Amino acid sequence: MLIKTFIPASERFWKLNKLIMELDFPKIEEKILKFWKEKKIFEKLREKNQGKERWSFLDGPITANNPMGVHHAWGRTYKDLFQRYKAMQGFEQRFQNGFDCQGLWVEVEVEKEMGFKTKKDIEKFGIGKFVEACKKRVLKYSKVQTEQSIRLGQWMDWENSYYTMSDENNYAIWNFLKKCWQKKLLYKGRDVVPWCPRCGTAISQHEILTEEYQELTHKSVFVKLPVEGRKNTFFLIWTTTPWTLPANVALAVHPELIYAEVQDKEGNIFIFLKSKADLISEGKVIKEFLGEKLENLKYQGMFDELPAVKKSVEKEGHRVILWKDISEEEGTGIVHIAPGCGQEDFQLSKEFNLPVVNPTNEESKYKEGFDFLTGKLVGEAADLIFDNLNKKGLVFKIEDYAHRYPTCWRCKEELIFRLVDEWYISMEKLRKPLMEIARKIKWIPSFGLERELDWLKNMQDWLISKKRYWGLALPIYECACGNFEVIGSKEELKERAVSGWKKFEGRSPHRSWVDEVKIKCSKCKKLVSRIPDVGNPWLDAGIVPFSTMGYYENKEYWKKWFPADLICESFPGQFKNWFYAIIVMSTVLENTNPTGTIFGYASVRDEKGEEMHKSKGNAIWFDEAVEKIGAEPMRWMYAKQNPVYNLKFGYGPAEEIKRKLLTLYNVFSFFSTYVDKKDLPVASSKLPVTKNILDKWIISRFNNLIEKVTRNLDRYNASLATLAIEKFFIDDLSLWYIRRSRKKFHQGAEGRKDAIKTLYYLLLNLTKLIAPIMPFFSEEMYLSLKSDNMPESIHLSDWPKTDKEKINRDLEKKMTEVREIVTQALAQRAEVGIKVRQPLKELRIPAFAKATAGEEELLELIKEEVNVKKIVFDKKIKKEIELDTKISKTLKEEGIVRDFIRNVQKMKKEAGFLPKDRVLIYYFAEREIRNIIENKKYFILKETRTENIELKKEVIREPFYLGTKVDNQKVYLKVKKGYSKIK
Ligand SMILES: [Zn+2]
Ligand SMILES: [Zn+2]
Repeated sequence: MLIKTFIPASERFWKLNKLIMELDFPKIEEKILKFWKEKKIFEKLREKNQGKERWSFLDGPITANNPMGVHHAWGRTYKDLFQRYKAMQGFEQRFQNGFDCQGLWVEVEVEKEMGFKTKKDIEKFGIGKFVEACKKRVLKYSKVQTEQSIRLGQWMDWENSYYTMSDENNYAIWNFLKKCWQKKLLYKGRDVVPWCPRCGTAISQHEILTEEYQELTHKSVFVKLPVEGRKNTFFLIWTTTPWTLPANVALAVHPELIYAEVQDKEGNIFIFLKSKADLISEGKVIKEFLGEKLENLKYQGMFDELPAVKKSVEKEGHRVILWKDISEEEGTGIVHIAPGCGQEDFQLSKEFNLPVVNPTNEESKYKEGFDFLTGKLVGEAADLIFDNLNKKGLVFKIEDYAHRYPTCWRCKEELIFRLVDEWYISMEKLRKPLMEIARKIKWIPSFGLERELDWLKNMQDWLISKKRYWGLALPIYECACGNFEVIGSKEELKERAVSGWKKFEGRSPHRSWVDEVKIKCSKCKKLVSRIPDVGNPWLDAGIVPFSTMGYYENKEYWKKWFPADLICESFPGQFKNWFYAIIVMSTVLENTNPTGTIFGYASVRDEKGEEMHKSKGNAIWFDEAVEKIGAEPMRWMYAKQNPVYNLKFGYGPAEEIKRKLLTLYNVFSFFSTYVDKKDLPVASSKLPVTKNILDKWIISRFNNLIEKVTRNLDRYNASLATLAIEKFFIDDLSLWYIRRSRKKFHQGAEGRKDAIKTLYYLLLNLTKLIAPIMPFFSEEMYLSLKSDNMPESIHLSDWPKTDKEKINRDLEKKMTEVREIVTQALAQRAEVGIKVRQPLKELRIPAFAKATAGEEELLELIKEEVNVKKIVFDKKIKKEIELDTKISKTLKEEGIVRDFIRNVQKMKKEAGFLPKDRVLIYYFAEREIRNIIENKKYFILKETRTENIELKKEVIREPFYLGTKVDNQKVYLKVKKGYSKIK
């Protein structure tokens, strides 16, 4: 893939070092990392921008629980890119990185490390010690992630990263919760919630994302329940969660659906939906009616003999209620209602005043009073229940049932639903203000707003408590008298403490130390403990617009930096989580938006577009990728991606990117090959004044590019900015400007000085446009181009500004026409099979729109590129062109000479000769070719800058000789450095 041209460095001024020559990204990056560190470039940048206008970026904390994956690197590339861009524009920034520290994700990993299976293991080990182990893990991985981010090229004030486990962060949340309490938003609620049997805690609504639903197969059961007062008549019900049957208190039917009595061969009558009548083989519909007819009918319960059930249902018995949310699709149309095990069931129990049987404890085992089930895990109860029901003759049918079922986001255990007391922030009063504040934020892509509003419209109250250990200690003190109070700060706790303060003092506000502190109930004066629960981790991340910007310690500082200008995170999940949490906290504390803009992006997938999983074997770790590909091609890939779509990451796509970047490298390589220091008396990045039309054109294109890249980065559209740069250096710079200007760079060529100035200006400024995206490569290029009067690092340079005067739309338009004509003419050549090196007589084209100055030069470009002697304007030709493809003898000879010259040049290049080297040509060819070459000898010498051409008497097959085809005739060529007398 690489052109391995070896040019001894000593012979050249523009010492593109070997690393660049080989385009070895990892090595370039390591070298530049060292340079930045030694020269303290980042510190110098911050110093340079200190006191200037602010630009406030707020980092969403990364979970410091594992090494980074390539998906983290996508977001971190954006964060770095936008911050570097703003820094080049001179904005002062905080450059603060954040680590998310507390929560179940860390606990689960530490549990695994220690071989713990249940919460009891943790408590035996000691809560305080366990918490310390969690802290240690966080510190370990925050360090790993810091190193990895530095390797990616991310510039942050790493010494001052924030940690959500810090005292400031935790106490800031205390303050927030106290505000919630004062505003009467905080309450203890009894509800049925998703519950993880292994983690032993409630899982809040936010945490159950679509990907937490798994395709699982469970045993479902049809049960027949005897209708009271009727012989051999049964309600037929169906459930996929048999463990909930002992908690059944009622049945529900849809009032407006049609139900039926269906008789089987034995004369038993089953009541259920008419549309499902064929559930009974050879059954006969003997009666049909609307569901409402069934209201209040009584039936015999399945487990009324169990003490816990008996106690609850003894008075009222079991009855049928009406409910409009029943669907006709699945089951029998009669739904078994267990208010202790289902969210909707619990709501119905309140509406219909039904008794509640609450069967499970924290470990998801049956409580006392459930006889043969007591102490059994609900997940293992199905068979016991089937046996019991079979003995009672109540089982109609058992069958496997595959469905999407929620699992724990952390440990993947199947969730159950449990009736529990948890703490909530009420959202009813906040819902409207939250939506208003969400609308104040600019969402990129714009569908972000709709998604956030959709969540805000439908979300339930925020469940903030968790019955766990490593997390925010909820500062709620609940007294037996029914009073509860919230402590808002460390100082307040000290003031209110009546015991335990000494044991706690000097420690972080974590369990178990903070639990030692007791206060006195302000109502009944009894001693009160903190509730043992910890907080939902999104409280930790939600407070950072306040805690990390000095809201509590330095209001002036906070006012300077709040609200942020930008936050930038992956979309999936965050609408319900971080975005939601910062909006809630900002609304409660200041009734305003925490950030001006939220920029979001999709997910990283593998090359085929599939999710990466360790277990699938398609996951790519950051360390592996960065050593294999290098950070820069990764960054280019990330920056280029349309953030709306998932990014397909892999080594294949990375090679594609490298190939593109190679074109850029080749332009630099070209420059360094042809230009010496003495060619640039005053190296300057200023705009050159040039008369040449190609120079003018590329300068115009480049100023357009500056404008386009700036405009897009201002809108945080890294994708369009990167694509524009890529298009520029491939299409405009390499494929046209360099290609058509090549000759001008030769020693002594006309317009050489202007061409050099132009290309120097382009390269120097192009590296600046590239700098935020590829900070290493651009630095390396810059260091080899810069003169002493320029900043020591590209990242200390100013962002280039568009010079509107240099933009010439008319010229650009004409050049586009020229390139179109060339494309058509070359296509015609290819069609008839005539090589470009074979000159042709004329090309007829439709005239340009208007004859203006410069037209002659444009026509010259066409002539050279298409290799025709003459261009004729022909008004009759509308769109197409006409190429005269007849080849005269003279034209044919000329073609042979051109081809010969081209081969000489190619060999010189391959041999690594410099333009200034003196060269001899030896050749052998048949008579026809030989005559032509001898006739044109002086022309060839001049064109190839060669000392002499010598005809060999015979074919000499030495290794240096190269057989090549000129007009389908063999010619043997050899080039050699040296001097000779011209014959
Ligand atoms: Zn779990
Ligand atoms: Zn009290």
